[in-house]
Amino acid sequence: MSETAVQAKPRYSGKRNRLAKPELLAPAGNLEKLKFAVHYGADAVYIGGQKYGLRSNADNFSFEEMREGVEFAARYGAKVFVATNIYAHQEDLDGVADYLKQLENAGIAAIIAADPAIVETAQKHAPKLEVHLSTQQSTMNWQAVQFWKEEGLPRVVLARETTMEEIAEIKSHMDVELEVFIHGAMCSSVSGRCVLSNHFTDRDSNRGGCCQSCRWKYDLHADEESVMEQGQNPFTMGSKDLCMIQHIPDLIDAGVDSFKIEGRMKSIHYVASVVNAYRQAIDAYMANPEGYELRSDWVDEIGKAANRPLNTGFFYTTPGAQEHIYEPEEKPAPYDFAAVVTDYDESSGIATVQQRSPFRPGMEVEFIGPGGRAFVQTVGELADEEGNSLTVARHPLQKIRLKTDRPVAALDIMRKRL
Ligand code: SF4
Repeated sequence: MSETAVQAKPRYSGKRNRLAKPELLAPAGNLEKLKFAVHYGADAVYIGGQKYGLRSNADNFSFEEMREGVEFAARYGAKVFVATNIYAHQEDLDGVADYLKQLENAGIAAIIAADPAIVETAQKHAPKLEVHLSTQQSTMNWQAVQFWKEEGLPRVVLARETTMEEIAEIKSHMDVELEVFIHGAMCSSVSGRCVLSNHFTDRDSNRGGCCQSCRWKYDLHADEESVMEQGQNPFTMGSKDLCMIQHIPDLIDAGVDSFKIEGRMKSIHYVASVVNAYRQAIDAYMANPEGYELRSDWVDEIGKAANRPLNTGFFYTTPGAQEHIYEPEEKPAPYDFAAVVTDYDESSGIATVQQRSPFRPGMEVEFIGPGGRAFVQTVGELADEEGNSLTVARHPLQKIRLKTDRPVAALDIMRKRL
């Protein structure tokens, strides 16, 4: 084992269905996130349109932005999917055929749908769109997968509650693409089938309105009296986040076709870091399954973007009491996005970056790029585009020039430790 390798803990020893290289599918909350996700290695991204998606408060895409996103992704050979996975009330269905046709015209490769009415409308009115069954359908057995295959769906997104053994079992029965969540937030209810948000805020989880009420802080009361001891922290009902970076071989060998990362609301830094780590792990395993070693820098990279405790969800065992977050543990990720590289001049070694959060000379920063390129350096002199010297880069989106210790490239990220 190399110095940088860490010991993974494979626990799955059942059926093996190793396939061609799986797809890495990343979330993209807006056009800029889409570009970073694709640039850092996603084979496909999923986005929300203005209607019918479950993230109604994400920065959802207009048709024009979708077209631009599809064009950008195509340059990397990547695809764009649109989430249309609400459970529709009658009124929600007005105009759905037209909406789906417009997605098709924008070059969207697939929709992710849960409601049979939306599935059928897409098949009838937008036949070039693939229809992928959403995780909202809670599919966990091969007979259910067979049902959806017979309905003409080429892909099923399994429920987060499906075990590794069940995935292998389904794959050995069915020639259907299986998409599985491998990273990101979990629902403490059965994926999305929850009415906490509806009760507390009149925002419907199953129509895109979830306000994450499971992660709020609660006091416990019996009648009118608080039963919490003095000084005791309020509790939450949220669960730990899923992270499968240590178990890539198990997922590939079980027959997962698409590795899905959760988080359309997450930051650019989060999406780029997480995609970067999984991209490298998948490529390394596919290139040499027998000699594969999990590298500590992939695990570290995930840790630099994470802000909640992580676990392996339902893959190996049913999560127990330890897998919930009782005390609010959420803290900012240890690194913050400081700037994005827009240009690099090789002859002078000067990079032009666009500011995303303040930084100043003397500060230690890290540059990262696709493929795990990374180095740490101390920020030297700063200048604006006109060459005026700056004591601090304080203006959002301002273009700033600085010397970098090593070559960098457009869309590399400069981050700072918090
Ligand atoms: S409130 Fe929490 S458990 Fe309920 S749907 Fe939202 S994320 Fe899931």
